[in-house]
Amino acid sequence: MHKTLYLKFLFAWVLFTVFGFIVVATFITRMTEEQVRGEESNNLYSEATLIANTYAADLYDSEMSLDSVQKQIKALGTFMQSDIYIVNPSGRLVVDSFENPDPERETYIENFSPSVIGDRNYAVDTFFGQYEDRHLTVLAPITGGYRIRGYVCITKPLTAINARVNNLLTISYLELVVLLLLSVIILIFFHRLVYAPLRKITTATEQYAAGNMKYRFTIDSEDEMGYLGASLNYMAGEISRQEDDQKKFIANVSHDFRSPLTSIRGFLGAMLDGTIPQELHEKYLKIVLRETDRLTKLTNGLLELNNLSTGGLLLNKTDFDINEAIRAVAASFEQTCRSRKVAIELVLTGEELLVTADRDRIEQVLYNLVDNAIKFSPSDSVVRIETTEKGNKVFTSVKDSGIGIPKADQSQIFDRFYKSDLSRGKDKTGTGLGLSIVREIIRAHGENINVVSTEGVGSEFIFTLPLSKENSDPNG
Ligand code: ADP
Repeated sequence: MHKTLYLKFLFAWVLFTVFGFIVVATFITRMTEEQVRGEESNNLYSEATLIANTYAADLYDSEMSLDSVQKQIKALGTFMQSDIYIVNPSGRLVVDSFENPDPERETYIENFSPSVIGDRNYAVDTFFGQYEDRHLTVLAPITGGYRIRGYVCITKPLTAINARVNNLLTISYLELVVLLLLSVIILIFFHRLVYAPLRKITTATEQYAAGNMKYRFTIDSEDEMGYLGASLNYMAGEISRQEDDQKKFIANVSHDFRSPLTSIRGFLGAMLDGTIPQELHEKYLKIVLRETDRLTKLTNGLLELNNLSTGGLLLNKTDFDINEAIRAVAASFEQTCRSRKVAIELVLTGEELLVTADRDRIEQVLYNLVDNAIKFSPSDSVVRIETTEKGNKVFTSVKDSGIGIPKADQSQIFDRFYKSDLSRGKDKTGTGLGLSIVREIIRAHGENINVVSTEGVGSEFIFTLPLSKENSDPNG
């Protein structure tokens, strides 16, 4: 069994998983970082602006002492887990929330420049070399008298911010894992709905390819897979039936050819080696002749059937009088009727009854039916041939009061080589092909043939033919 489809699907799932993690690890991480830093810097900036407008402004306006501003800023810094600075535009440190600048000694932040804050309103760096690790920094100007008097700077270590980023990322990873677990459901569905039935179908096709047409399987679903499975089962059934038919056909042909050949060979051998004396030769030669006739009849029947069933039957349809065809066929049985003491009675509708069909073929049908009817009738009985017009059809019936056909045999008498057990004693020359030929001809016309029979009472064969248009419209 090829596992490739399953492996491919599994591979796609693994690829989906890997890509999922890559996306979270790159894009989602970067987006979360940006988002958290943006939010954090907004908060810090609001705080910085507030400080710039209150404590820092008061300090520059000398409304608050450096010491008390220092205290407030320190408390705020602790609360916000950040460092807060008030810096002059020159970079001189005025207030530091971490440690008080020495008022005696001027402390400068080297290279201080508010331009480090880019478009994003915050910077991520070491705050002009003040720290060893990177910090998020925001600046808010302290204005007064239309000029910038200094800046409030708030810095927060990136490690504190990253902790929040990591928390959010953990949620994203968890979401991804849940999604992947849920996608396993798709895998399970794929297995149950596609892979398992497909496996059954593949096993079946392997069996069929190996010639085991009897192999059967079931797919319990009403979707396309179920339909495919049912079609495949049906196809195998049909092929298997055809194979059986073929085997039966060959067995029948062989059997029917072998018995006359055996008897011909037996009689000829006996004549040659003198077992049959010279004076009896004529009698046995007649038997041999009858047997060869039977072989000829069998061969002709087979050829005929072959032509009919391979679609080689080209009907030469004409409008002809079925009544007249019946009269002609009945006349050809005159001699047989006399010797068998069977009468043929014709009950025909109208003087002339035109049908559209292949006349020769229909005469063959009539011939086979009448032949059977006489063959299976007792002496001093009547075979009745009747035509009836119904709608645009003509029903022709051939009815006898003969041995009849057992119910169980009625569905099979149209099969090739079929002979009912009842008839075997009566008819030793029959090939079992006559009714198959009849059915093929009627089918080729697109018409139907039926049998109604009661064992010991008689049989009636009825077939339909299309009424000729000329018949239904005399003026047309
Ligand atoms: P066969 O050449 O042996 O008659 P058919 O195909 O014509 O072959 O008929 C098949 C079998 O159907 C016969 O062997 C016989 O058992 C049965 N059958 C056909 N016609 C009749 C009938 N009119 N009455 C009784 N049995 C019949």
